This record gives sequence, C-alpha cells and structure tokens, in this order.
Amino acid sequence: MPYTYPRCKKCGRPAFYRVRYARLWLCPKHFVEFFERRVKRAIDNYKLVRGVKRVLVAVSGGKDSVAALYVLNKFKEIYGYELMGVTIDLGIPEYSEKSIRIARSLYERFGVDYYIVKLSDYGFTLGDVQVWRRVKRIRRPICSFCGIVKRYLLNKTALEVGADVVATGHNLDDLVKFVATDYYNGRIEELVKLGLKTPASNGFAGRIRPLGLVSGKEILYYVNTLGLPYVHMKCPYSPRQTNIQDRILEKINDLELEYPGFKIGFVKSFLHHLKPIMAKSYSVEKKGIYRCSICGMPTSNSDRVCGFCKLRMRVSETISA
Ligand code: SF4
Ligand code: ZN
Ligand code: ZN
Repeated sequence: MPYTYPRCKKCGRPAFYRVRYARLWLCPKHFVEFFERRVKRAIDNYKLVRGVKRVLVAVSGGKDSVAALYVLNKFKEIYGYELMGVTIDLGIPEYSEKSIRIARSLYERFGVDYYIVKLSDYGFTLGDVQVWRRVKRIRRPICSFCGIVKRYLLNKTALEVGADVVATGHNLDDLVKFVATDYYNGRIEELVKLGLKTPASNGFAGRIRPLGLVSGKEILYYVNTLGLPYVHMKCPYSPRQTNIQDRILEKINDLELEYPGFKIGFVKSFLHHLKPIMAKSYSVEKKGIYRCSICGMPTSNSDRVCGFCKLRMRVSETISA
C-alpha cells in the first residue's frame, strides 16, 4: 500500500506538524493560527494584560523572545496596550553582538520603540564576571550572576519607562523545569512566584510569560514557519554539563511521549491547585523590602546593598587590580 501523507485537519492540505496531545495534523498556516490561539487563550485565561497600558518585552534574540515580540506586537491592537522592547547588551563576546543585531532588526521591522541597555555602562561586562569567577575560584555558575544582572536591568528599565509589566519568552519547558526543581529543592519562596503572571509589588515591576503554555518545540516551528530570524548560536558561557534541571526535563519529556499533554497538565495542576494553597500559608510580602543604599533600587537584602551592586563592586575590584 502506498504511504499516505498526513493532511491538515482544517483544510486537507499537506500537514507538517502533529500536535500530539490534541491529535491534530496541521499545515503551516493552520499551525500558526493554532499557536496564536493558544497564546491568546493563556493571555485571556490568566488575565495577563488586564489593566496593562504599557508592556516592555525583553528580547534576547533567541527564538522564544523573538516569538514573544512577534505575537505581542500582533495582539497589541486587540488588547490596546503599548509595546516597547528592551535588549540587554551583556558584553558576551560575539554572542551579544549577534543578539543585538537581530533584536534591533526586528524592532525596526515591526516599528516597536526599544532600548538597548549596556551592562558596560555600569562599569563591567559578563565577560568580566567570568574573569572574576576564574580569578577568585568561584564555583557558583555564571548563569546565576547573569540572572541577577538581567533581573536588575529589566526591572530598572521597566520602572524608568513606566511599563506596567515586563514580558519574557519563558515557555512551557522552562516552567516545567522551574516548578520541578524548586519543588525538589524545597524553594517555596520561589515556587509561589512561578506562573504566567507575577504582579508588581514592593517596587518590582510585574512579569508576564505569555508563552508559558507552549513548548519550546512549538515555538521553534512557529518562528521557522514565519521565517523570523533568531540567534542560533549558543551562549559561550552556557553550562557544558547537563544539570539537574535539564535531567528532570528530559525525564518529563519521556513522560510527555508516553502521555501526550503531561507537561501542560503538570504546570496547570501546579497553578490551579498547589500554588493557591502554598500562597495562603506563605506570603512573599512577609519578607522585608529595603532600598539599596548605593543605587536606590528595591532589595530584600537586609544589609541594604542589592545583589547587582554587590556583584558590580566585587567584579570591579578584580578587573581594576
Ligand atoms: Fe546568561 Fe547563562 Fe544565558 Fe549565557 S547561558 S546568557 S550566561 S543565563
Ligand atoms: Zn491547513
Ligand atoms: Zn543597588
């Protein structure tokens, strides 16, 4: 018997993508529609832009943030928010230049106002952080310092430009990893903050993750189908060895193959059942919030020096020695 190629369930044209958990084969056009409908449903169901006038989307140039920029730009008339973009120049050799080139080209193509925030304007780069780690034999991974830098600069930019929320390209796989590893490590304080939306509080801008219920693979197909450019290069500082988060995701991906829809079920079950119970008994507000005595930004450090300023001082001491 000749092999019959799968056909799109919507139009009967040749299909190229199978949504396993929905048992759907789709052609490129109907896959794009399916993807955008899913993102819109997440925005509606989780009230991500309710009362939001200005969204600042963080674009690193990777596929996820490129998809977030594209889809948020497409939806801005429907929801009536103003969209702005921000890209952080971390000063990672070659990688940062590529990221900025792509982000800038997309902002200009879509007519989105944007900011390029340079870490070097604060006296150091991520390359310097790497040198400092080596000189001081610091075992803590560079990505954890990079996280401090990105959170600080995104929050600062959002407050400066009057954005109600920062939108990031975190996807379903990221949420699965975060929920599972924070649970494994007993980090309740982090767990209660996870979700598609973190409201603004204590001087921190709100966060939204509109792609939180679509997988990395779906995002890859989406940006490729639309022909959007993105950075293919891996960050030269990304860990070479697989860490526990990646191992957990590998195992959960095995479960997804056996039980299509497992990952969405896992995250939704956390958001709808476990998180409300945890949030009742653990209030993030209980933790004191201070002003950093150096930069004036909010911090939970009781010594009144924020993590970013501490890092900046330590790295600067080493590189200027
Ligand atoms: Fe930063 Fe790590 Fe991502 Fe590189 S891989 S951009 S160091 S978080
Ligand atoms: Zn079709
Ligand atoms: Zn500070």
